[in-house]
Amino acid sequence: MTRRTLALLCLLISGLLHAQDPATITAQARNYLNTLTSPEFHGRGYVNNGQGIAAEWIAAQFGRLGLKPVKQDFYQPFAFNVNSFPDSIGVTVDGKRLVPGADFLVDPASGRSEGSFALVHLAPSDLFNPERKAMTLGVLSGKAACLHWPSTTNKDSLQRFHELERELMHYGPVVKPVSGKLTWSVAQESLPFPLVEISSAFLTDSSATIDMHVRNRMLVRNPARNVLGMVKGRSKDWVIVSAHYDHLGRMGPDALFPGANDNASGVAMLLSLAEWFTKNSPKHNILFVAFAGEEAGLIGSEWCALDRPIDLGRVKLMVNLDILGTGDDGITVVNSTAQQAQFDRMVQMNTQRGLLKEVKPRGPACNSDHCPFVKRGIPAIFIYTMGGVAHYHDVLDKADTLPLTEFADLHALLREFIATIK
Ligand SMILES: [Zn+2]
Repeated sequence: MTRRTLALLCLLISGLLHAQDPATITAQARNYLNTLTSPEFHGRGYVNNGQGIAAEWIAAQFGRLGLKPVKQDFYQPFAFNVNSFPDSIGVTVDGKRLVPGADFLVDPASGRSEGSFALVHLAPSDLFNPERKAMTLGVLSGKAACLHWPSTTNKDSLQRFHELERELMHYGPVVKPVSGKLTWSVAQESLPFPLVEISSAFLTDSSATIDMHVRNRMLVRNPARNVLGMVKGRSKDWVIVSAHYDHLGRMGPDALFPGANDNASGVAMLLSLAEWFTKNSPKHNILFVAFAGEEAGLIGSEWCALDRPIDLGRVKLMVNLDILGTGDDGITVVNSTAQQAQFDRMVQMNTQRGLLKEVKPRGPACNSDHCPFVKRGIPAIFIYTMGGVAHYHDVLDKADTLPLTEFADLHALLREFIATIK
């Protein structure tokens, strides 16, 4: 071997190793995260078609990485109704203008209300008794109901409060002080009037008037797409690796929900694993699925499990990834109790390699996209990271504060675990 050939060989090997080193994997994930959470993706929701932009970007990544479509292209289209808030939202309490997203949120099922309203302060006793309730509703005409619920963790009480809120949203605008963090969501329906959740620092028993400008836009049969790409294996069986790419989007132009941890982090892992398996041919076919509509109620995964783009009877395991941005305390594996052998294998692998602090078991829970598959008897687990920052469904779930602490270690564990599924 000449010195020149040797040098070339060294360069080639170092190049290969470089492509696999933990720092490169994390840096690549950081790039994915920055793109998915950028303002141009609009929080991957329903204002300015953020979710559609994200779908196209992911399909382009699949193409670049060399994944193959299962059908004619990478998309699996469907549609669902979803409420959205494209217009500017303004809330002012007793002359103080509040900051959308930070000081207040509108309930995702909110309707429209514009104007100045006197606040009528209500306690459960004003609404629980039917006669009192009829009187209360009479008083509310042209005013806004301000609900003061006692703090409780009792599920029945919380359910009752929730039902009363929904009912009042048919009569007029409703507001509610919230102590602790504001957490947003997505709704498939809209009620006639808004419910505004206001941080308790800005809404008290003595607050007198509220100015609100809340306008929703109900999107009927809004188009959405799961993005599917495959890597061919040597067997006829399948492994599914999935992560939802949708998030909450925008609440008006001023409040952006970037969804870095939930779930740009999972999409970053999905893309990183896809790249790995295009270079390291797997035993079983691998279907990579980026789901839409998760936050609106697991709609994309439900559609995928019904529409069956592949023979789901041949799925060895589905590994769903949702919230992978930390890992200081390891990972939790949901539904591991139903997949004990697979779980034991993962734990053993992790111990041998000395990767994560803990691989923790958890029973079944219908809390992410694995659920519609589990319900149909397809073996599936759902993995999320534990510890570190805990921003969730709020404007603070940003890329620049998401550490990706254990991303590379989890990548190492997952690629080995997936490659050795029997
Ligand atoms: Zn999620």
